[in-house]
Amino acid sequence: MTELDDLPPIVDTHGHLDDAAFDADRNAVLDAARAAGVRRFINIGYKPERWESSRALRDANPDVEIALGLHPQEAGRFDQSVERFLRRVIHELRPIAVGETGFDFARSTPSLSEQTSAFRAQLAIAEETGLPVVIHQRDAADAMKAELDRWPNLAPIVLHSFDGDESLTAWAIERGCYIGIGGLACKSASGPLRKLLTTVPPERLLLETDAPYLAPPGIKDRRNTPAHLPRIAGLLAPLWGMSVEALCRKTTSNADEVFDFDKSSRSQV
Ligand SMILES: [Zn+2]
Repeated sequence: MTELDDLPPIVDTHGHLDDAAFDADRNAVLDAARAAGVRRFINIGYKPERWESSRALRDANPDVEIALGLHPQEAGRFDQSVERFLRRVIHELRPIAVGETGFDFARSTPSLSEQTSAFRAQLAIAEETGLPVVIHQRDAADAMKAELDRWPNLAPIVLHSFDGDESLTAWAIERGCYIGIGGLACKSASGPLRKLLTTVPPERLLLETDAPYLAPPGIKDRRNTPAHLPRIAGLLAPLWGMSVEALCRKTTSNADEVFDFDKSSRSQV
């Protein structure tokens, strides 16, 4: 028994629990996370095949919400028919956010123009629907800032698994973005990132696992699961001089504010 047993309810704001990595034991993974204090899961459906699997996961679990979009690494598939399909599923399935979308220049494909078309179309949908937008950014901070500067009227922007330099951090705070923190910030090599994160007000923080990716240090199984969220919170809370309880409480109320869970499809049906 540890002091982590009595944590306030936690929200995992970014995971891929419909991933094949969980096919053998998905329900057990969800139950273990619930037992660890995770009260709500946001499953990110990041390509057309995952829009349906996200819906199925939500239908089967009252504590799962979904976000739907096209990941920048999938932007090569983007065309008018994918855009029409995304608009339709967003209208019909009523996710709580658009995304993850954004820019990822860590690899040479998809091209900048493909990524830009997909990103812009999703920002337009976010603006029209008033839904928050979940952003994935890798090696693309300047392009992302420049693009988002063209869209002053978006609902809250979530910079998921935040990574960036001083200028991106300052920009994000100024813009009022929410900052997703998880396994990446826990890595031993992430010292400079952790230092920057201390400048982010706790009012802007969201906890996330990005499961099955980005397992925090000290876990044997390299498959990340939402049950690791208390451990992640425990590793990161000292950055703000907070107790793990205070960080969980704060990030849960931030998540409620961003995603407006009371207004989600569950209370509309
Ligand atoms: Zn993700």
